[in-house]
Amino acid sequence: MTRTADIAVVGAGLVGLATAHALATTHRQRVVVFEKEPGVAAHQSSHNSGVIHSGLYYTPGSARARLCTEGRVRMVEFCRAHGIAHDVCGKLVVATREDELPRLEALRLRGLENGLGVTALTPREFTAIEPHAGGLRALHVPESGIADYPAVARTLAREIAEAGGAVECRAAFQRAHDAPAGVRVEVSDGTWEVGAMVACAGLHADRVAAASGVETDIVIAPFRGEYYTLAPARQSLVRHLIYPVPDPRFPFLGVHFTRMAGGGVEAGPNAVIALAREGYTWGDVSVRDLADFARSRGARRFVRTHFGTGVAEIRRSFSKARFAATLARLVPAITPDDLRSGGAGVRAMALTPQGTMVDDFAFVERGRMVHVLNAPSPAATASLAIGHHVATRVLARLG
Ligand SMILES: Cc1cc2nc3c(=O)[nH]c(=O)nc-3n(C[C@H](O)[C@H](O)[C@H](O)COP(=O)(O)OP(=O)(O)OC[C@H]3O[C@@H](n4cnc5c(N)ncnc54)[C@H](O)[C@@H]3O)c2cc1C
Repeated sequence: MTRTADIAVVGAGLVGLATAHALATTHRQRVVVFEKEPGVAAHQSSHNSGVIHSGLYYTPGSARARLCTEGRVRMVEFCRAHGIAHDVCGKLVVATREDELPRLEALRLRGLENGLGVTALTPREFTAIEPHAGGLRALHVPESGIADYPAVARTLAREIAEAGGAVECRAAFQRAHDAPAGVRVEVSDGTWEVGAMVACAGLHADRVAAASGVETDIVIAPFRGEYYTLAPARQSLVRHLIYPVPDPRFPFLGVHFTRMAGGGVEAGPNAVIALAREGYTWGDVSVRDLADFARSRGARRFVRTHFGTGVAEIRRSFSKARFAATLARLVPAITPDDLRSGGAGVRAMALTPQGTMVDDFAFVERGRMVHVLNAPSPAATASLAIGHHVATRVLARLG
């Protein structure tokens, strides 16, 4: 039997849920969300640093800058309104070497351009905020914070159901085609006729697009971020969030310290190639995922360009002492004995055929479909703003 809904959303991560929530509550659409896992937010949306990003790093005017700023405000309001653990605690970005000082100053100017209340602090000033941080100079970003993102996802799912929508778990999207009244969507447990479809499939965004007849030259490469946690007796070394100055040769923020909304302090994440799209440990290997990676010109070029950094990251992945040494640049008192094994998350990194990372959020529209092809960090922070943006775009396609 074919079932019906106004709009289908593929993927119950924060981006898919926020989109379905906006459609169901603000726009009164009858939505159905398909999620292949037994529960919501099973991948990136629950395996991340839990940080509410301020918008410090992003090119002014880019979708990442705009949606991060709007999303951060929406996220704090949502957490407040629903009693979800969060704290706008501010963060420090610390320069620990002379050569980082010009980049720290460039970040300060970018932060000001992005409307943030950033201030540059001397060691005496920043140790009043983080007594154990070490370094030459720091930026204080008061707008940064932390949130319990899995609780946000569960709350969105509950409110979608309360608004008459459905979140169908264990329902894997298989393919979609145009149909007379919209889109025909085949999932593992049946077929749906819907007016329009949105795909927010994270680590599988390229495959879901291809199975919907949407041509794209983007390939998703999985990059794992591994964490340690600080031993309980050493958690007092970190009050809030302590970040390094990002290395411009490297597309990630660098390992940092994060106090979690649920308690405890995490240190990480690094960035190593994952051997499966959902490869949370070195033992998780997918032949299909590796073959797709090896076939992709963009992925091969990316590996060639970042070979040296990649090898160094893999060596650090296997050495707690190396990991601790990187962390000790920010908090000199840290030793390997302070670190306990933590979790990991896998980033969906969208690569172009030229082997460069797609820097901004990327959306592709075709017929009655909108595909979110690239939603990297800060998409957890920005999810509620992305959801409203995508909802407006898909409704426009309904005419
Ligand atoms: C290590 C790490 C740290 C990060 N730290 C932060 C941070 O501190 N702050 C921040 O703002 N962002 C952070 N991010 C980024 C953020 O977590 C992601 O950008 C965001 O969660 C993306 O949400 P999503 O819904 O697009 O993807 P996901 O959460 O991955 O959701 C996609 C969903 O689609 C489902 N799916 C895929 N294929 C199918 C299919 N065929 N059928 C049905 N369902 C399917 C998946 O099972 C999954 O549930 C971090 C990410 C990582 C990995």
